Amino acid sequence: MHAVSERAHDLIAAEERYGAHNYHPLDLIVARAEGVWLWDVDGNRFLDCISAYSAVNQGHCHPRIRAALVEQSAKVTLTSRAMRNDRMPGFLEKLTRLCGFDMALPTNTGVEAVETGIKLARRWGYSVKGIRPDAAEIVVFSNNFHGRTMSAVSASTTPEYRKHFGPFVPGFTAIPYGDADALEGAIKPETCAILIEPIQGEGGVNVPPEGYLKRAWALCREHQVLFIADEIQTGFGRTGDLFACDYDAIKPDVLLVGKALGGGFYPVSAALADRPVMSLFGPGDHGSTFGGNPLGSAVAEAAIDVLVDEKLASRARYAGAKIMQGLRAIASPLVKEIRGRGLLIGIELSIPARRVSEALLARGVAAKDTQEMVLRIAPPLVIDDAAIDYFLERFRDAMASL
Ligand SMILES: *Cc1c(COP(=O)(O)O)cnc(C)c1O
Repeated sequence: MHAVSERAHDLIAAEERYGAHNYHPLDLIVARAEGVWLWDVDGNRFLDCISAYSAVNQGHCHPRIRAALVEQSAKVTLTSRAMRNDRMPGFLEKLTRLCGFDMALPTNTGVEAVETGIKLARRWGYSVKGIRPDAAEIVVFSNNFHGRTMSAVSASTTPEYRKHFGPFVPGFTAIPYGDADALEGAIKPETCAILIEPIQGEGGVNVPPEGYLKRAWALCREHQVLFIADEIQTGFGRTGDLFACDYDAIKPDVLLVGKALGGGFYPVSAALADRPVMSLFGPGDHGSTFGGNPLGSAVAEAAIDVLVDEKLASRARYAGAKIMQGLRAIASPLVKEIRGRGLLIGIELSIPARRVSEALLARGVAAKDTQEMVLRIAPPLVIDDAAIDYFLERFRDAMASL
């Protein structure tokens, strides 16, 4: 058990007083982190099963990524795209080769990559598909999460993401996730794209039915619609493949990546597409002051190298299977379903997940609810057998205490 010290108490009070209350965090005040472990201000150790929502797949403070950050920070960090820098080309080449696309457009946060995908799809809809002006539609899915900008919120079906934020950006049609017939019925001549997470993370770790993505992809081909995969959370090894779309052997028309691309050090995201689509952007059409900056480019290159050299996707597959097996063996009556792929695991409970999350925290494990009744387990992909056993023991104990 960890007691909240006076120092911790003061920090929480200052945060609550001076910061907007747009989150409901665990009262775990992290002061240091390494690999899969976190230490709070009082020196207590916790296993990180959140990984900053999959942004630290490579583990906290990875020495190789840190070295790239430190080295580049002494050379040049920001130029804007008013000129070129010597780090962006190498980053773009590495990223596009890894992902199998001709070109990438670098952004900072994931939601900017989403915005990029939406703008690209609309432009394609008008200039290639010939949709009449301002009529383009994008099909989105129930319980999606694409970020917090006005267009991402306009695409959302979650009431609390939208409440009192209207008027919304038009042009999104929401249909049930996982229902291919609903998708077939929703595609119209004005549909330029579908925007889809191959596994929904924030939505509750929802894995679609077998074959669904393949059929969705085929429907897109048949009706001349772009398939935009939001792999900001599922990408870069999280699900046991490099990308979750690899499991279904499909190549999206537009791939959105982020989170782990920055290795936990720096926000780096991107939208990728092949030349015929990405070439629809010309000078002045889209951009970002910080996107593609040399510091972020250096960090992202190192983050990709670590992912590949340390074979993190296969490690996620192995560790995920081991955790899943261990969870199934625990067989708590409070667990309704265990689902997921690789190290993106959702435990559906018959009690609010926040209660399990608090019980785990008291035992040295940081894990959080994503939907009210779903606990998400998503540690850094570098988790080893000893840490897996540590997690399973504490999970068993926490469930027995409830
Ligand atoms: C986190 C996330 C985003 C938004 O990324 P930010 O970097 O927070 O803007 C978009 N889509 C998915 C699937 C995500 O998980």
